[in-house]
Amino acid sequence: MAKIIHLRKDCIGCNSCVENCPSMWKINEKDGKADLINSEKKGETFVKELPIELTEENEKAVKDCPVNIIKIFK
Ligand code: SF4
Repeated sequence: MAKIIHLRKDCIGCNSCVENCPSMWKINEKDGKADLINSEKKGETFVKELPIELTEENEKAVKDCPVNIIKIFK
């Protein structure tokens, strides 16, 4: 399965990923950055398996993130 990766520390909280895929992303009310829901912290990144049915929405999230901190590895 593909993996999706978020370099959370550089997130500017623009909400674009949440709009693209609200079932995977939410804004954290404490610091205003996006959380990749139920992801695992690995160093400075957060990682999670990307369900096939959410691929298209998250490819759009990758493309639309203004600071390019979301990546998908297949
Ligand atoms: S699109 Fe990028 S910068 Fe915007 S909230 Fe999501 S991860 Fe953060």
